[in-house]
Amino acid sequence: MRLSVVIPCYNEEAVLAECVLQVRQLLDALAAKGKITPDSNLWLVDDGSRDSTWNLIETLAGQHANVIGVKLSRNRGHQHALLAGLMSADGDAVISLDADLQDDIAVVEEMIDAHVAGFEVVFGVRRSRVKDTVFKRWTARRYYALLRVLGVDMVPDHADFRLLGRAALRALAEYPETNLFLRGLIPQLGFRTTRVLYDRQLRLAGTTKYSLARMLGLGIDGITSFSAVPLRVIAATGALLFLLSMGVSVWVLGVKLFTDHAAPGWASTTLPIYALGGVQLLSLGLVGEYVAKIYAEVKRRPRYIIERMTSDRVVAP
Ligand code: UDP
Ligand code: MG
Repeated sequence: MRLSVVIPCYNEEAVLAECVLQVRQLLDALAAKGKITPDSNLWLVDDGSRDSTWNLIETLAGQHANVIGVKLSRNRGHQHALLAGLMSADGDAVISLDADLQDDIAVVEEMIDAHVAGFEVVFGVRRSRVKDTVFKRWTARRYYALLRVLGVDMVPDHADFRLLGRAALRALAEYPETNLFLRGLIPQLGFRTTRVLYDRQLRLAGTTKYSLARMLGLGIDGITSFSAVPLRVIAATGALLFLLSMGVSVWVLGVKLFTDHAAPGWASTTLPIYALGGVQLLSLGLVGEYVAKIYAEVKRRPRYIIERMTSDRVVAP
């Protein structure tokens, strides 16, 4: 079995050399054991880095025949860079990793064994989140709970560390969506899947490329790309408010017709204005979120553009 390792890299000059060294050693070791073929390779996707990442990739690719660089024409974000790598890589199975080696490459062997045993998709799942900040741990737990309620099929504590077999990659290539959220998409592919537990390491060097805003963006994509429940909640809220307003109308009419102290109050006039205004704005915003998604999808823009490659091999997924 030929293995391809895919690593998206955005401003990773601080870790790249060490990362490539470790992955190459791993590939050599696995090839020596006969688990993978010696022509297994490593694909580095430069996601429009602003530092010397691409120069470094070119140098590394020049030194080692089994290191291949793919340069995107601009920064497209982690998910798209990863997709570019997955669609370019030519292995019988492809494992995706972060450049900072937070994903423990020691379990790669276990993933390969699982694939050989017949599993088409192998998810790397974090054993614990002790190395995260309290804030990240809490938000992650809430987020997975929310996704479960909304009916989104996702593997908890799994990021983008996974093995995909050729059949799964071919299936993935059939999904044309622009709002890419691979963690939600891969479970939809089906196939026999399993999990491998690992301990997430600290970042080797450099700083995180996921700001809070980016994290939030990814989270919103995860929900709106896979669940229409928020839209239904709007409809349900609308129906509930309608029923409530009917009750209020009956009460107001009763006061007006059958009593003599029908002084129209300030509160009962202004409160609904605020309450309903708020609900309407919120609903509109949520609908807008989906409209924006539709807009992005119907444009059918390319999801990434490869500017250059250090090798001219082209693979049809
Ligand atoms: N990354 C990328 N494009 C981006 C942001 C990140 O290709 O726009 C890559 C980054 O180089 C790394 C991976 O995505 O290989 C995960 O990013 P990072 O480690 O910064 O995220 P964290 O682990 O902090 O969530
Ligand atoms: Mg990381």
